[in-house]
Amino acid sequence: MEGMTHKLRAEYGPQGAAGGAKSWHVVRDEDLSVALCGRTMSDEAETRPEQEWGTGLRCCQQCGSLYMHETPHMQGSHPYS
Ligand SMILES: [Zn+2]
Repeated sequence: MEGMTHKLRAEYGPQGAAGGAKSWHVVRDEDLSVALCGRTMSDEAETRPEQEWGTGLRCCQQCGSLYMHETPHMQGSHPYS
């Protein structure tokens, strides 16, 4: 498969989806249920395109460093600049 792609998925706090995302994790398209940091994501968790990474969402730091490692083309260049 060419070009591994990712998605962002929401982790919710105690209030669930109603309370908004507590933080955002990165998952691979092949397995949307497990974040790069190892966290199991809920089936109901909101999913967003990876392009939204770095646009102000509160993101999981561990997912962030692993994501940068898997997508070196993202380093040093902002997709919206
Ligand atoms: Zn994570």
